[in-house]
Amino acid sequence: MYKERIKKLNSKEVNLSGKYVFYWVQTGLRIDYNYSLEFAINQANKLKKPLVVFFGLKEFKFSNLRQYQFLKEGILEYKKNLEKIGSNFLIKRIKNFDEILDFANDACLIISDFGYLKKQRFWRYYLSSKANVSFFEVENDTVFPLKIISSKKISFAFQIRKKIFNALPYFVRIFNLPEIKNKEKIFFQSKKEIEELFDQLKIDKKVYPSFFIGGELEAEKKLKEFIESKLSYYKNYRGNPSKNFQSDLSAYLHFGFISPVKIINQILKKYPIRDENVISFFNELLIWRELARNFVYFEENYDNWKNLPQWSINTLDYHQKDKREYVYSLEDLENAKTHDKYWNACQKEMLIAGKMHNYMRMYWAKKVIEWTKDWRQAYDWLVYLNDKYELDGRDPNGYAGIAWSFGQFDHPWNERKIFGKVRYMNDKGLERKFEMKDYLKKIENLEKNSKNKLER
Ligand SMILES: Cc1cc2nc3c(=O)[nH]c(=O)nc-3n(C[C@H](O)[C@H](O)[C@H](O)COP(=O)(O)OP(=O)(O)OC[C@H]3O[C@@H](n4cnc5c(N)ncnc54)[C@H](O)[C@@H]3O)c2cc1C
Repeated sequence: MYKERIKKLNSKEVNLSGKYVFYWVQTGLRIDYNYSLEFAINQANKLKKPLVVFFGLKEFKFSNLRQYQFLKEGILEYKKNLEKIGSNFLIKRIKNFDEILDFANDACLIISDFGYLKKQRFWRYYLSSKANVSFFEVENDTVFPLKIISSKKISFAFQIRKKIFNALPYFVRIFNLPEIKNKEKIFFQSKKEIEELFDQLKIDKKVYPSFFIGGELEAEKKLKEFIESKLSYYKNYRGNPSKNFQSDLSAYLHFGFISPVKIINQILKKYPIRDENVISFFNELLIWRELARNFVYFEENYDNWKNLPQWSINTLDYHQKDKREYVYSLEDLENAKTHDKYWNACQKEMLIAGKMHNYMRMYWAKKVIEWTKDWRQAYDWLVYLNDKYELDGRDPNGYAGIAWSFGQFDHPWNERKIFGKVRYMNDKGLERKFEMKDYLKKIENLEKNSKNKLER
């Protein structure tokens, strides 16, 4: 465990007469490579107290069945695994996170995982200021603790590439979970009780579950499949939407079912670090993913147009009144009803599978800019669609990806209509690079085979 991952958020003492150590888990729903859990177990062992892992179940913006089904599968597995290692697990319906302290009345100390997004950060600071006991935050979701990479916003990926690759050996070590010494049972909930809590959620049930199954075991299977049959083609084929050589791990990373450190360790067991496919994959998992966390942490407008560099705001404004050949409403877009067969296909991929191919995400966002009268409106619609339908939505990667589509992390290109100097993409480019007929066929099959329905 590295001290760089741990931060004490208040000045309160540990309550030695408390009954347990309380770990509020939000983004680390796994046993393996979970540094917050490791810290919590070490604290419990030091105090000779049992451990209580707590999850507060609540709705959020655009909550839907797809996300909660995935979460439920992961939570049920997590509970089983925690109980196997001798921890307590408690899940409660809450309206707001301030209720969490009500469940931590008898805690010796409180531990949480780290939050990068605005609300996650707010609640950690709020709870730590109200808690009567020590409140620790342990960074768990990145390979490098955020501030090790930079103490300010990074503008371009190249600025951190060398630093990250150099620091890799220090932060990527094999993880061993300590044994829990005091296995006292304080709380117990049956699987049925937990399922009932999920049934009570007021969520949009028209967004159907995806075929992706939630949980740590499934994440491990995906990782194994990736290392065994996809990684050696990654550099050449990762960007090809008609093939499937991506890892499919984004939703598992988002829900905390797998750690990026584990992914890297498993890969380096089989491949040398200088392998071109490994470098290409680490460029995404390490450079772009960690850059996205830096972005949302240091940029408060990460989810709206105000984060954009001045050159991109100026150029998009300058071209605001340019004639658009096609203009669509949010409803047209949401229902994949545009004139563009490739765009409709990728929108359907997101609606049905809850995961659009990476290359198509760029095309998808660029076209919404082109077909919306007001580019600021396009920004809001993209955030809405992405957060609602993608299983990996509401993630720093999504906010960074949308910002990139409007010029963030990029440089000015040759000026053209509507986009100005912001990078442009078109269907001819897709056809030139890929077998787009195969992509359309893939989505057609997805539509046919899926039990999910497109109607809302
Ligand atoms: C407009 C737009 C919206 C996006 N929305 C999301 C989103 O909501 N959630 C999300 O996780 N990613 C998002 N991305 C980034 C990227 O498209 C996905 O992370 C990737 O397609 C996920 O598939 P995978 O896990 O199979 O990726 P792989 O190619 O196997 O990559 C492995 C991991 O690296 C990380 N990664 C890959 N590409 C990027 C990237 N460009 N930026 C940051 N991290 C990356 C992801 O954690 C991913 O799981 C978006 C990109 C764009 C352009």
